[in-house]
Amino acid sequence: SWSSSDSVISIESAGEPAEPESPYRVVLLGASGVGKTAFASIFAGAADNEVCEKDIEVDGEPATITLVDTWDTEQHMQTGDAYLLLYSITDRTSFLRASELRITLRRFCPAQNTPIILVGNKCDLVRRREVSATEGRACAAVFDCKFIETSAAMQHNIWEAFHGIVRQLRLRRDSREA
Ligand code: GDP
Repeated sequence: SWSSSDSVISIESAGEPAEPESPYRVVLLGASGVGKTAFASIFAGAADNEVCEKDIEVDGEPATITLVDTWDTEQHMQTGDAYLLLYSITDRTSFLRASELRITLRRFCPAQNTPIILVGNKCDLVRRREVSATEGRACAAVFDCKFIETSAAMQHNIWEAFHGIVRQLRLRRDSREA
C-alpha cells in the first residue's frame, strides 16, 4: 500500500466531483491484508508501479484506468472517479471495515452516483470463509453499490471488477450526456 500527501484531501473539502474523463482514477480501499496489493499487481502486470496507468478494452471500447492503492486511513483517503472497496471473505473485521469506509465515502463523495464496487476477495479460501456471498450482496444492496467476489490468488473475477467499474462510469457519463 502507498499514499502520497500531495493528492490527499480532507473530508471537509469534498465537493461535487468533476466530470470523469478517461483516464479514470480508480481507488483501491480496504483494511490491511485484504488483497489490495495483489489486485494492483494483477492490474499492473509486469510493471510494479504503485500508481499504475493502463489501457483496457471494455465492451469493444478502450478505457484508460489509473489505479491508486491507498492506506487504510480516512485521513489519507484519496479522491477517485470510482472505488473498489475490498474486504476478505476470510476476515469479518475487514467486512465491517468496508462498511465503515462506505459510510466515509458517502460523506467524501456526496454525489449519489460515484461508482463503487464492494469486492469480497480471497473467495478461493472456501474453508476459511467468515462472510457469506449472501451477506456481501445484502451489504452492497444496503449501501447502493455493486458486488463481486474475487480471488487475486486464482486471478478470478479481477478484470470483471475493473470492467464493472468502467461500465458504471460510462453509464454515468451517458446519463449526463442524455
Ligand atoms: P493489502 O494489505 O490489502 O495490500 O493485502 P495484500 O495484497 O498484501 O495481501 C495480503 C495477503 O493475502 C498476501 O499474503 C496475499 O498473498 C494474500 N492474498 C491476497 N489476495 C488473495 C486471494 O485472493 N486469495 C488468497 N488465498 N490469498 C490472497
